[in-house]
Amino acid sequence: MSKDSLDDPSLNADQLTSALQQVKLADITEFLIDREADPACPSCRANAWTVMDPTIQGVVDLRMRAPWTITESFGPGAALPAIVMVCNQCGFIRQHSGHLVAAWMLKKLA
Ligand SMILES: [Zn+2]
Repeated sequence: MSKDSLDDPSLNADQLTSALQQVKLADITEFLIDREADPACPSCRANAWTVMDPTIQGVVDLRMRAPWTITESFGPGAALPAIVMVCNQCGFIRQHSGHLVAAWMLKKLA
């Protein structure tokens, strides 16, 4: 099992964006299994998650912001794409790097 790097010089921003746009729910599950991520919620130990999708849940896009990009008005700026999952039992929120999922998707599609 190979590990992708956030600093992989062979991936450019366009490739990462294109790969992220192709990610489906089943891919996220497959990625987490491939990376041996613990499926249990660290808060309540349940194993039932909802992957947040602003087009379905109608929530604001939740992305981690680099601290130096946050302005007083919280306007647009650089952000880290993240897969956001909410525990169906206790509401714990976990996030996985969109960059790593994208790099994994590119290798899967190659
Ligand atoms: Zn939980």
